[in-house]
Amino acid sequence: MILPLREAGDPGLRQPSRELTASEIISPAVQELIGSMFETMRAAPGVGLAAPQIGMPLQLAVIEDRQEYIDKLPAEHAAARLRSAVPPHVIINPQLTLGDEGAEANAHPGVEFFEGCLSLPGFTAIVPRAFSVRVDCLNERAEPVTIRARGWYARILQHEIDHLHGTLYIDRMLTRSFMGRENFERHWKDVPVAEFRRLLDG
Ligand code: ZN
Repeated sequence: MILPLREAGDPGLRQPSRELTASEIISPAVQELIGSMFETMRAAPGVGLAAPQIGMPLQLAVIEDRQEYIDKLPAEHAAARLRSAVPPHVIINPQLTLGDEGAEANAHPGVEFFEGCLSLPGFTAIVPRAFSVRVDCLNERAEPVTIRARGWYARILQHEIDHLHGTLYIDRMLTRSFMGRENFERHWKDVPVAEFRRLLDG
């Protein structure tokens, strides 16, 4: 079932969500909710959807980045973002750790790209994010899972986990970069972020 999306201004998007118990996770109600969240995310379409976005104050999000979405982007766009397909999966009660212990993470302290949100339709802004993350969570069978992610997948995880704490990308964005999608497409789509910052910062 496709569920209505809550948009910025909905109080539920600003409240922390509660954890799920193992027995709740495997219950028919939550399994059905997970199925509906995948359906809603794909219909939007989006690459992630957190439970507060459909009005449920639960520490639960679904994620999927499809190759067909990436194929629509210029190759250099996907390469710069380190964006590659992510199979559909669920994160429940996630604990987020920014960066990792590897030397490569030290070479990438943070990354800045335009990002959007299904709860702020029609807008986009540059959001600084950690290049790599570790997420300890439960899957849809209530089994513990550790995810290590880099690039665009790490960004998706940070964005969705923010939702579970009542945080939206507008809380983290470079405020002078906030704009409508139409103007983004018209003026900025192909401008590298570093160049954009030079122009914007004057
Ligand atoms: Zn979002």
